Amino acid sequence: HTSTVTTPYRIAGSVTGRVPVGIGRKRTRVVVTGGAGFVGSHLVDKLIKRGDDVIVIDNFFTGRKENVMHHFGNHRFELIRHDVVEPILLEVDQIYHLACPASPVHYKYNPVKTIISFVYISIWIEFDYEGTSDMFKCCFIIFFNLDVLEILNCDYKTNVMGTLNMLGLAKRIGAKFLLTSTSEVYGDPLEHPQKETYWGNVNPIGVRSCYDEGKRTAETLTMDYHRGADVEVRIARIFNTYGPRMCLDDGRVVSNFVAQAIRKQPMTVYGDGKQTRSFQYVSDLVDGLMALMDGDHIGPFNLGNPGEFTMLELAEVVKEVIDPSATIEFKANTADDPHKRKPDISKAKELLNWEPKIPLRDGLPLMVNDFRNRILNEDEGKGN
Ligand code: NAD
Ligand code: UDP
Ligand code: UDP
Repeated sequence: HTSTVTTPYRIAGSVTGRVPVGIGRKRTRVVVTGGAGFVGSHLVDKLIKRGDDVIVIDNFFTGRKENVMHHFGNHRFELIRHDVVEPILLEVDQIYHLACPASPVHYKYNPVKTIISFVYISIWIEFDYEGTSDMFKCCFIIFFNLDVLEILNCDYKTNVMGTLNMLGLAKRIGAKFLLTSTSEVYGDPLEHPQKETYWGNVNPIGVRSCYDEGKRTAETLTMDYHRGADVEVRIARIFNTYGPRMCLDDGRVVSNFVAQAIRKQPMTVYGDGKQTRSFQYVSDLVDGLMALMDGDHIGPFNLGNPGEFTMLELAEVVKEVIDPSATIEFKANTADDPHKRKPDISKAKELLNWEPKIPLRDGLPLMVNDFRNRILNEDEGKGN
């Protein structure tokens, strides 16, 4: 049969329904929110490769059409520009929910704007507030609140409203729903390595909390829809992931170090560089996400590579595999930076039969060509 794909605002096209593919396997209709982003686009590649129909929903906040352009013209691929904060009507079998401004630079951007607005408005109030009518004051306060909400819109709202809408969609059509949560739900962990049973140590009012608490709320919503509305759900807690198509200047440590080494700039080590992270290559993550979606277990599951590195060690590896003459410079660290992070992946090993295969030294070289080409194009664009 054929099912239509509509939004409340427009007819977005149509996808073919469940069509038998080869022997024994039905073609699955899949939505990937955030599918034009780094992880999403690799997931889309693998889904299309195995014969699924894929609809990408993305508002291009951090994603790029270039990441999925190679599927344009493929009748099994469809791209919808849409913000998941708004409702949408589709008919699919599975929903991978990745949409979220995921790097610190992007998720801290909006709160910064909020503070600037607040300072501006405070000054304005000091000069103009006295002598204004009550009605005007009231309108002004409402306007101010709306303004702040709009500015804060991005991260928390995407995590909460976006996840709610995708869960509402899953509930209506009986689709399986997978949430890409994060190791950030563990905050600055007091347990090491982190197991899924650990409840975390998150500062609820810090600069990172729009992301951390947003994802924690998204996990809560996911479990509530499972318990309350019988939605079949999956939760992945993703640890730091790297690979081709990462945003060049998103401020994450791997993209920063690799881009800096290629540009012959010093690698910026924040703080003393002794904080640790565990880095996973993107294809390992995609395998884990698909194993989770197709398996029988809800999770949450840690999906990460247990190989743990200090930032100084990471800089050394980048130096080894990209440019032996690369240098480092120290910079002040950001607030609430977790001191260490390493996944315990026993649960995923046992129940999903999954574990990462690509160590950091093998994975880093796989992203260099992509970074080099994009940096070259950028430089040419600037006329360098
Ligand atoms: P990314 O920024 O490359 O991708 C996110 C995508 O979501 C982008 O294409 C962006 O345009 C889109 N998006 C953002 N807000 C949206 C909205 N309101 N409506 C529609 N689309 C929207 O990030 P990524 O690294 O690919 O992350 C994908 C998911 O994995 C995110 O949910 C992230 O929180 C999670 N995650 C990633 C990592 C990592 O290291 N990459 C670690 C933990 C969790
Ligand atoms: N939703 C959606 N697509 C659907 C079904 C629901 O975007 O196909 C949105 C809906 O607009 C709502 C959210 O998902 O904002 C939660 O839906 P649910 O039906 O669970 O809650 P309700 O609409 O009853 O508040
Ligand atoms: N970091 C760094 N130099 C950079 C960017 C980040 O030393 O140029 C550090 C950062 O302080 C943190 C670690 O690298 O301790 C990982 O940062 P990232 O933003 O990549 O991931 P997250 O903190 O979200 O795990």
